[in-house]
Amino acid sequence: MIISIASGKGGTGKTTVATNLALSVPHARILDCDVEEPNAHIFLKPEIKEKVPVFIPVPKIDKERCNGCGRCKEVCVYNALAVLKNDVLVFSELCHGCGACAYFCPQKAITEVNKEIGVIETGNSRTSWGGDLEFIHGKLNIGQAMSPPLIRAVKKYIDPAGVNIIDAPPGTSCPVIESVKGSDFCILVTEPTPFGLNDLILAVEVLRKLTIPFGVVINRSDLGDRKTDDYCRKENIAVLMRIPFEKEIAAAYSRGMTIVEVLPHYRERFQAMFEMIRDGKKK
Ligand code: SF4
Ligand code: SF4
Repeated sequence: MIISIASGKGGTGKTTVATNLALSVPHARILDCDVEEPNAHIFLKPEIKEKVPVFIPVPKIDKERCNGCGRCKEVCVYNALAVLKNDVLVFSELCHGCGACAYFCPQKAITEVNKEIGVIETGNSRTSWGGDLEFIHGKLNIGQAMSPPLIRAVKKYIDPAGVNIIDAPPGTSCPVIESVKGSDFCILVTEPTPFGLNDLILAVEVLRKLTIPFGVVINRSDLGDRKTDDYCRKENIAVLMRIPFEKEIAAAYSRGMTIVEVLPHYRERFQAMFEMIRDGKKK
């Protein structure tokens, strides 16, 4: 089973929900797909056992063979190529490694060379009750813009037989879609403020287009207004859990600790949410 955790905007508590859920479900694994700014490791403190670099193939032009026909530029939908008089410029930061330019070059003047875009680190975190949590995250190299290929590489570590918790990037753009695609269920984390509601509505639109079942967790639920609840009721969206503002939670977060470490009774609440999702009791 794949459960992704997403939010229309950053700072709503997405990673808090992802890490605490992962710690509460026996034999789960967490995949941090927020590869531009992964931070689940801060809370889970995994022992990293393996680091694997991730590459994408980018074009290399053979100037002897190239006749400047411009076909490669035409087929590149990512604008990663420019054809000047007798030269082809490759903007490798824009290249998605799709291979179209090499495939269509009539002169066979394009070969592909590997470019490292980031690294995947895997390991284990000890849970507070002595269990093991499988940990996987991707870290995009500084200056790289292409996170989807790295996200796809992280998702190759999904265990089809187990429970996989995906921490998606915030927002509603391509990296989010790449992260949540293929999920059995998505938890949208929001907060009851006008900004939170605005971004929740955008995220709901994306998930409905992707036809992924979803529910909402309202963080800091006792602050703000009732409009998020009203919206969920009107749209027939299940509110799976409410996490009120508590000093202990805020203090734990600032020390890089999870809720279930400082308030162990939350483990049952996260477990209950998981069971509700698993058993299909969501709307
Ligand atoms: S398609 Fe091939 S031959 Fe034509 S401009 Fe591009 S690299 Fe040169
Ligand atoms: S591999 Fe794809 S994205 Fe990269 S330059 Fe060629 S056509 Fe463009």
